[in-house]
Amino acid sequence: MDQPKEFIPVYEPLLNGKEEEYVLDCLRSGWVSSLGKYIPQFENLFAQFCGVPYGVAVCNGTVALHLALTTLGIGPDDEVILPSLTFIATANVVRYTGAKVVFADSEEKTWTIDVADIRRKVTARTKAIIPVHLYGHPADMRAIMALAKEKGLYVIEDAAEAHGAMAYGKRVGSFGNINAFSFYGNKIITTGEGGMLTCNDAGLTERMRFLRDHAMSPEKRYWHTEVGYNYRMTNLQAALGVAQMERIDEFLQRKYALADIYNEGFSQIHGITLPPKADWAEPVYWMYSILINDDFPFSRDEVMKKLKEAGIDSRPFFYPIHTMPPYENGQSLPVTDNLSRRGINLPSSITLTTSDLKRILDAFRQMAT
Ligand SMILES: *Cc1c(COP(=O)(O)O)cnc(C)c1O
Repeated sequence: MDQPKEFIPVYEPLLNGKEEEYVLDCLRSGWVSSLGKYIPQFENLFAQFCGVPYGVAVCNGTVALHLALTTLGIGPDDEVILPSLTFIATANVVRYTGAKVVFADSEEKTWTIDVADIRRKVTARTKAIIPVHLYGHPADMRAIMALAKEKGLYVIEDAAEAHGAMAYGKRVGSFGNINAFSFYGNKIITTGEGGMLTCNDAGLTERMRFLRDHAMSPEKRYWHTEVGYNYRMTNLQAALGVAQMERIDEFLQRKYALADIYNEGFSQIHGITLPPKADWAEPVYWMYSILINDDFPFSRDEVMKKLKEAGIDSRPFFYPIHTMPPYENGQSLPVTDNLSRRGINLPSSITLTTSDLKRILDAFRQMAT
């Protein structure tokens, strides 16, 4: 028997840059709440990174999406089209507004929302589309923006899993009317909990800032003309965000290198489908993900069990949202169901070493023989 091996987690953050210094600066200066220099600094750095003029920082990715919908005036009479293969937050935020959640299927080629199916699901009440850049691969933003323009719909990119990914040479978070990111602990950069909205429109940005702060009148403090929210980010979170932004390019380079090693390894193993890469896309491999084909010797769940025995953590793909109790509707979304049944997220931290990767690939080689 080998020595017991260290457990390889699916994701862990890397916080060994200026994070400690900037957070200490907040503590020592007393600026721990939602005023302080790091918040506008983080907003500007992140907007610049996405290639848009405006960023609005909020306390997590879920409220970022909710604030986007609310700012665009989406409510009970409306329908919003989104993929079923995503994290539950994408659907829940639509439900919070009272609008109807309408699921479109995903496509095999990118694992993201199928634009032909969006077209079939547009009705007179459809107001918006939420494409999700699943596991770091962008949705087909050129086709989605063209359809949205034709039908007069808003687009809200859920870019929570794809900081830095590109579609048609442009960063995600720059296409839609308002776009949302998350900085949860396992996202590409983290602020502990946190979120950001990116936007090209000054008026919408002003409205987001207003609603983020309880819709307080800019002219008269503590005077409120409508019902807003406390969705503000703290200076402590933003301090982490600024430190993480200083290294985001390095983090992304590391993600590409990890994906290269995985891709090279898996291309030699029969019965595994590699993650997608459309020719117009530059994915960021938030979660390096594969599909277990039906001719692989073990099922997806058996593979996960064997990985666990070898000290390697993994996760199944998201369950299709249209099959879970709050949203169950008897709908058939064949590509979504198939991807969800066969998909695994493998360890994807930027802290992974070459020998970790070798161990993971060896575990698959052993299963394949
Ligand atoms: C993480 C995530 C969110 C929500 O972000 P939180 O910061 O955890 O609220 C939304 N959508 C997708 C696709 C995500 O992966």
